[in-house]
Parts: sequence; C-alpha cells; structure tokens
Amino acid sequence: MSHLQTSAFPFAFFEGKIVPIAKAHVNIQTNALQYGTGVFGGVRGYYNKKGKFISLFRLEDHMTRFLNSLKILGESIEYSKEDLIDITIKLLKKNAPETDTYVRPFAYAGSLSLTPNLERDNPFYFAQYMIPLGDYLPTDKGVTTCVSSWRRISDNAIPSRAKITGGYINSALAKKEANSNGFDEAIFLNEAGHVAEGSAMNLFIVRDGVLITPSKSEDILEGITRRSIMQFATDLGIPVEERTVDRSELYIADEAFFCGTGAQVAWIKEVDHRKVGSGKRGNIAGTIQDLFFRVVRGEEEKYEKWCTKIKINS
Ligand code: PMP
Repeated sequence: MSHLQTSAFPFAFFEGKIVPIAKAHVNIQTNALQYGTGVFGGVRGYYNKKGKFISLFRLEDHMTRFLNSLKILGESIEYSKEDLIDITIKLLKKNAPETDTYVRPFAYAGSLSLTPNLERDNPFYFAQYMIPLGDYLPTDKGVTTCVSSWRRISDNAIPSRAKITGGYINSALAKKEANSNGFDEAIFLNEAGHVAEGSAMNLFIVRDGVLITPSKSEDILEGITRRSIMQFATDLGIPVEERTVDRSELYIADEAFFCGTGAQVAWIKEVDHRKVGSGKRGNIAGTIQDLFFRVVRGEEEKYEKWCTKIKINS
C-alpha cells in the first residue's frame, strides 16, 4: 500500500559485500527482473528502546524456508543457512536501526539472457536490504476483506509454498482488486474453490471455540507466523484444526484473523460486507494477538528461543 515506508536503511548486502544501498543495482536486462525468476524472504526485527536491541523473529526458520524456496526451483546460492544468518546480523549492526525493521533476503537469476530459464547458465545471486516497517495492515481496528475473484496460484503452476517473486503478481492482482473496491485485503480461494489465504498472509477462523486454518495442501505459503500461532493455541489449550475451509464458513465464523510477518496478527471485522462475529476483536484472536506481540518483542521467556536479540550501537 502506498502509505508503507519503502526507503531502505543506508546499507545493503550485494554481490558478496555490504555496500551503500545506492550501489545495489542490477542491469535492466536481468532475468529475474524480466521474468520473476527470483525468491525472497521477509523477517521482522522489533526494536527494544530500553534494551537497545533488535529482536529478530524466527530468523533461522525464515532462512530455512528461503533456502527451501530455492530448492523447489532446483536452484542454490553460494551461502549456507549459517552464512545467511551471519550476513543478516552483520547488516543489521551496520544499519543500526532504532525502529521496527523488516529484513528482505532476496535471491535472483542474474544472467542477462533473453529466455526465462532456470539453467546453469543463469545462476542465482544473493542480496539483502532492510526497511523500517510499522503495521502493514491495521492491527487495532479490524480489517475489511473480500473474497477475491482471482484464484490462488496452484502448486502445479507456481508453487505457493515457495516465495517466488514472479508468483507475487497473483498477490498484487488480488490486492489491487480488494483495494479498488474499498476493502483493506483480499482472501484467495484456490483452484478447487477452497479458502487459501490473504494476498501475503495466512488466515485463521474461529468456530465454536476451535481455531481453524486451511491445511498446507490448499496452495498456501507455509507461514512461520501461522506455525507459531498454532503452537500458541496448543500451549493455551485451544483446539486447532488444519483442514479444508469453505467460503461460506468465513461468513458464519465467530472470529477471523490474518497472520504473517508483514500482517503480524490482524483481526478481520468484515468479509464480503458480512460482519465477522460481533464485528469486534474476538476473545481468541485477542488473546493470540496480545501474546504474539509480547513474544516477537522478546518479552515471553517461554518463546525466547524464537528471538535473536542483536544489540544496536548507535
Ligand atoms: N502467505 C503469503 C503468500 C505470504 O507472502 C506471507 C508472507 N511471508 C505469508 C503467507 C505469511 O508467512 P510468514 O508468517 O512466514 O511471514
């Protein structure tokens, strides 16, 4: 959305080293730019003013998924997961942000060849930048949504479980349609007509005290926030179901919310002009949202293993 801050912190990792962001440029012919032959990740770092540290949420899990996205394409980069973690920490220290931060690891097909290919003559290169980032969706006032007329890309077309740059045209189409019709966000159905996810976030609904989310085979990204929330629910004794979700269930759900690195936990107040539950933040969504924000800020001992705390020296 246009209100999102997009000017990056001064340094990026590019072509094997940390450089000023203005130097992190590619040729217009670059294969990834022409055809979307790239993969990306997204990690949030929450700034703790008092302790002067950034808490990166599930950094290792994000890097695992990033490398798995490459694996799905049959591609690789020259860095291991440990290297990527190391690069992220070095770049974070160099930029020394004193605000909540979004980290974008990116791997792209760098050849200038004309053909959209994933061949050996079109190797993938790694780059990374960081931006300040507040709320991506409203987290306090309820999100308005519509079911998109666009279907979620299927596993046999562009695998949704990989974060493939070209696949995000699907997200952009859904988001554009939703926004131009006055909604905050879209909900995708997959080709089978089942509920999948938002344009760049996973979805949960609550029915009769049960937390329900579309299963991993419904053409969704296997979200790290989704996985974390399922763990919270289990720990809180809330029953969780991963299953097929029908469109009409959205209309009669007691509660619904999105989750993701960008979206965080954002409760939904309306689907296709139908109020979700009372139209207010529900009990389960509220409990999970509050816990989520404490966890990502490194304030819950039980989940501290998910937080990589990096001291910021300004
Ligand atoms: N679905 C899609 C399509 C996404 O792009 C994202 C954001 N990465 C998510 C779900 C949420 O995943 P995560 O919780 O790992 O950020």
